[in-house]
Amino acid sequence: MSALARLTEKVADEDDRATRDFPCRACGAVVRETVVDLGMSPLCESYVPPERQDAMEPFYPLHAFVCEQCYLVQLREYVSAEEIFTEYAYFSSFSDSWLQHAEEYAVMAARRFGLGSGSRVVELASNDGYLLQYFVRAGIPSLGVEPAANVARAAEERGVRTIVAFFGRDTGAQLRADGWAASLMIANNVLAQVPDLNDFVGGIQIALAEHGVVTVEFPHVVRTIEENQFDQIYHEHFSYFSLSTVALLFARHGLEVFDVEELPTHGGSLRVYGCHAGDAAHPVEPSVRALLDREERLGVRTLAYYHAFEESVRETKRRLLEFLIQARREGKRVVGYGAPGKGNTLLNFCGIRTDFIDFTVDRNPYKHGKLLPGSRIPIHAPEKLWEAKPDYVLILPWNLKDEIVKQLEGIRAWGGRFVVPIPTLRVW
Ligand SMILES: [Zn+2]
Repeated sequence: MSALARLTEKVADEDDRATRDFPCRACGAVVRETVVDLGMSPLCESYVPPERQDAMEPFYPLHAFVCEQCYLVQLREYVSAEEIFTEYAYFSSFSDSWLQHAEEYAVMAARRFGLGSGSRVVELASNDGYLLQYFVRAGIPSLGVEPAANVARAAEERGVRTIVAFFGRDTGAQLRADGWAASLMIANNVLAQVPDLNDFVGGIQIALAEHGVVTVEFPHVVRTIEENQFDQIYHEHFSYFSLSTVALLFARHGLEVFDVEELPTHGGSLRVYGCHAGDAAHPVEPSVRALLDREERLGVRTLAYYHAFEESVRETKRRLLEFLIQARREGKRVVGYGAPGKGNTLLNFCGIRTDFIDFTVDRNPYKHGKLLPGSRIPIHAPEKLWEAKPDYVLILPWNLKDEIVKQLEGIRAWGGRFVVPIPTLRVW
């Protein structure tokens, strides 16, 4: 074969890969229905250090699909989980409100399920031990499973025993063999990031003790859609769940949902409680049927429900750009607040760079001096905002807006105003 023919074949292969349908991460059916196409975007947690500001940066398609069989909303895996999560910059303990959420959970779970020194608590993607530390303090034997070695080290320093691994059936079997069959397994804000859902949930089934309980928390896709939270979509989140998709997934692995709660975290999350199917120790609460019925009425098991989303996403972009164009035409100064992953989806999809926003500020010192991926907007310490005295502060982590507005009330002194883009543009 000539070099040219080989090259042509290679290009054809790549073309093919770019357009071919792919199998559903949960049920294996062919996935081809678009929910929203957000264009090309870099990995949203890849903050650019200043020495790399003239270097290339990889962009990947940010395109959400829905499965016609099980209605799981999902991205194709363009970047492997190993690439994303083995050296991760996110340390849960940087957020006060998040720590409080963790402590409340630990107290609730220990009481509700009667956990004590004879119990075993296992957390999957245990991060820096921000949650397990509360179980350890209560004298309940606890073990973390965390793929990022740097983050796991921080957990060990906090006194939380942690093994460095991606969780699945093999790790589940290992835990059981080592005497860690779990009375309580915790998988909070990790399910979205799991590339092989069946291996992960299969592993939970293996490692869960008799009468054990698993709780999973994740942003509720119904809130994402109903409240136009398209910036929840980023490459690190492979899947977006309703209760009905999780119930199906659990059932496939001999697990059953017996309770569910709605939480305000991450713009609206679910906490789902599961056990071995048919475990009489955990009767199914009425909350489960009630939410499944509500989801059914909304239409989560119809394609039309997902197809309506894209137009409201585009309208949000038009409104935000309209506002920014007018503000800049009037010579107003706009800066950002926060540098969350979701902000990068928003800014890159809308094509907003330093032509609209001078800089953003963030409390996490790890990000100071770096640039936002893609948009290359500089990130400074919060003090910079008080020097610059901007006319508008665009709040990127809008889910924390009440807390942020309270901290920043002082901008009123020079006539500064707040802006949030989601669910609809609001200036006040
Ligand atoms: Zn499916």
